[in-house]
Amino acid sequence: MKKENDQICTYNHKILSIFDGVVWKICEQCQLIYATQKKGQAYEINEKEHFDNFPPGNKYEFNSLINKFEKYSEKNTNQLTFFDFGCGAGGELIQAQKRFKKTYGFEPNKKLYEGCKSKSLNVINNFNELFKIEKVDVCFARNPFRYVDNFLFTFKTFIELIKPGGFLVWRDKYFNWIPRPNLGFGGKKVNPSQTETYLMKDTIIFHLEKLGMKIHYEKFYFNDTFLIIAEKDKEKKNFKNKKIKRVIIFNEQVISIIHILRKKLSYLRETIQRLIYFFRR
Ligand SMILES: [Zn+2]
Repeated sequence: MKKENDQICTYNHKILSIFDGVVWKICEQCQLIYATQKKGQAYEINEKEHFDNFPPGNKYEFNSLINKFEKYSEKNTNQLTFFDFGCGAGGELIQAQKRFKKTYGFEPNKKLYEGCKSKSLNVINNFNELFKIEKVDVCFARNPFRYVDNFLFTFKTFIELIKPGGFLVWRDKYFNWIPRPNLGFGGKKVNPSQTETYLMKDTIIFHLEKLGMKIHYEKFYFNDTFLIIAEKDKEKKNFKNKKIKRVIIFNEQVISIIHILRKKLSYLRETIQRLIYFFRR
């Protein structure tokens, strides 16, 4: 039985909203925002369709992430084992096979899992099998965590897959700017492919440190994604709780404006980068 978020992070978890049959809560210490109950059937069918048609990852992006990771690792990737958590259609695993000593993956969606199997990839489908597999040198995850139930339990299980001295390469979405209409404050229907968990920047760092990860690289981008490269402590250290800034939940209109501004900034940044590239040639 999976543990609930408030059984892992045992601070006060208060109700934010109850909307469309879904209860949203926030942890007062780490500011994790999450839905506490299972989604309805219609929700699940939509979600399944969403995953069945999940696009394969971009191999250039994957290789550039691994190149970045290599700067922090003393060993060459061909000496290391690699695990992809939520490996989807297996595109990243195929790339990883070319660089790592041994590769595995976990994919909860049946159709995607079967796709991986047909490509002879070493992939498991059942969450409970994660407790049985050998610890790995590098755990990789690209965008799985916005979709998981019981985030803290799943995340803890994921981090426990890493050997002491092993690494985490994590690319995902964060929500400092968007804890919003989807929570029901705007009275709109909840989007069927909507996430169960909203990760704030500070929440992410808080839980990584709590689980004994030392962060080497962290970048939070304007397009609401982030990249973290972290190393697992070789020995267990005591975790000191730090005070986290309280999440402010804006109303829907304010968020739309912030969102547009961030999009424009992100676009401007890309344009400037392109211009610099053009003039330097
Ligand atoms: Zn918490």
